[in-house]
Amino acid sequence: MHFSWKAKGSGRVAQAVAVLAGVLLSISAIACGGTRAGSDAVASDVPLAQPAPPPSQTGGFNGARAWSYLVKIVDFGPRPPGSANIQREQRYLASELNSFGCKVSQDHFQAETGIGLLHMDNIIAKIPGKSPGIILLLTHYDTLRLPGFVGADDGGSSTAMMLEMAHDLCGHPGPLAVWIAFLDGEEDQTNFTTAQQAQTVWSDSNALFGSRELAAKMELSGKLKQVKAVMLADMIGDSHLRIDKDSNSTPWLVNLVWGVADHLGYSKYFLTKSMAVDDDHIPFLKKGVSAIDVIDFNYPWWHTVQDTLNKCSPHSLAVVGHVFLESIKALDKKFAPRAPAKT
Ligand SMILES: [Zn+2]
Repeated sequence: MHFSWKAKGSGRVAQAVAVLAGVLLSISAIACGGTRAGSDAVASDVPLAQPAPPPSQTGGFNGARAWSYLVKIVDFGPRPPGSANIQREQRYLASELNSFGCKVSQDHFQAETGIGLLHMDNIIAKIPGKSPGIILLLTHYDTLRLPGFVGADDGGSSTAMMLEMAHDLCGHPGPLAVWIAFLDGEEDQTNFTTAQQAQTVWSDSNALFGSRELAAKMELSGKLKQVKAVMLADMIGDSHLRIDKDSNSTPWLVNLVWGVADHLGYSKYFLTKSMAVDDDHIPFLKKGVSAIDVIDFNYPWWHTVQDTLNKCSPHSLAVVGHVFLESIKALDKKFAPRAPAKT
């Protein structure tokens, strides 16, 4: 993802400075040989991983199991598009989804990128509904093209969360169909050499490949018209979870999701400040579909090799998973209300 410099408001610039300052803080701590245990400054910035509440407290979402998916995904190592590691990840995602009883389609396509033609794959789990409307959930599963970057939060966390969503939803058709799309090629396809470069270089035409492909294909097939809402999750594993509103997202959908979060007692994680984010929801917004990006951009390790598991927590995966599950129920109510009982 990328935040829009062109958007109004100086908050964004301050935000970027804060993010970069955090990066410098963590880099300097490492340069000094500091560790979490050995540096108070860094220790206070990195809360110890909080365990997930039991699924009975998070609407059935199993945060501990989502965390086990994340551990496995990060274990594949850096996962840029076209790499042997991302192919391993693709096989893993498809085999897990199949094991949950999901109907899975794998859409293979060629992407013309700044570094040449790349093979990419969108993997989509489809849970049928009782009415024609579709709720489309999105995550990207590729990681930044930066040596040593394993993307525990950026690429890993939302992918693990969506795997757990599929585990919960597959085999349980609801009022609306739910499609869960695991997207390739979200990151800018430049071979980055430094974090600083990876935090500033972004081109709309050299990123968002999977979402652009999916939006175009769904438009061609006519399925896009059935989509009631697109819900994208990105970077939601941060153990210090602070999710600002994205001002590019569709206002009614932001209100719905934030209303759900407030109702569940999560207003300390779902904040009222807003910033503008370019991410996989944009191709759908451009085609007139309502969409939201749930993203915690208050993450000092964004696009650095310090984006590792120890900055994330099962608790954060559970909070966001719970909000997504309950938001689906709220969307069901809004778009597929039960017919009144016959008297
Ligand atoms: Zn990224």
